[in-house]
Amino acid sequence: MWPFGKKVACFQCDAKVKEKASRLRRGFRFCSEACVRAFLDANQLRRPPGDDAQLRLELGNLAISALGELTRLGARASDGLSIRGASGTVFTLQASAIGVAMEQQRDEEVTDALHRFNQHVTEALPYLVALGLTAELDALDTIDLDAAISEARGTPAGARAAAEGLQRHVVAVLERL
Ligand SMILES: [Zn+2]
Repeated sequence: MWPFGKKVACFQCDAKVKEKASRLRRGFRFCSEACVRAFLDANQLRRPPGDDAQLRLELGNLAISALGELTRLGARASDGLSIRGASGTVFTLQASAIGVAMEQQRDEEVTDALHRFNQHVTEALPYLVALGLTAELDALDTIDLDAAISEARGTPAGARAAAEGLQRHVVAVLERL
C-alpha cells in the first residue's frame, strides 16, 4: 500500500491530493476550498417550488425519512422520536413507521439503508439552501458516506455508532424547522 495515505483526484481541477486532506462536497472530493467554491458556484441548487412553510414541511419529511433509515441501523428511538422545531412544529418518527430494527444485520442491508439515508439527505440539500440553513447544509453535505458504511458494516455496535453519528446532523435540521 502507498505509504503516505490514499490519494484522490480533485473533482474540479484534477489535482492529486491526499484523501485525508481533501474536502468532501456532494459526494465528490476537492483539493481546496477554492475548488469547492468554484464547483458549488457552477452547480447551484435550484430552489424547490413552494413558499417557505411548504419547504419546511418537505424538508421535515425528508429528514424524518432519513432518521427512519438510521433507526433501522440501531440508532435509538425506542418509543418514537419527537423533535420540536423552532417554529413549534413537532416532527415525530412513529415507532410503527420505523420498521423492525435489523437484529442480524447483513452488510448488504446496512449498506442499502445508508444509501437510502444518503438519498434523502441529497434531496434535502436544495431545501436547506432555499431556507438559508447554511450550517446544517454544510454538516450534511460533508458527510463521508463511504466512511460511515465502513464503520457500520460488520457489527451491530458499529452500525449503531455510525447511525447515531449521522443522526445528530439530521436532528439539528429538524430543530431549525
Ligand atoms: Zn482542485
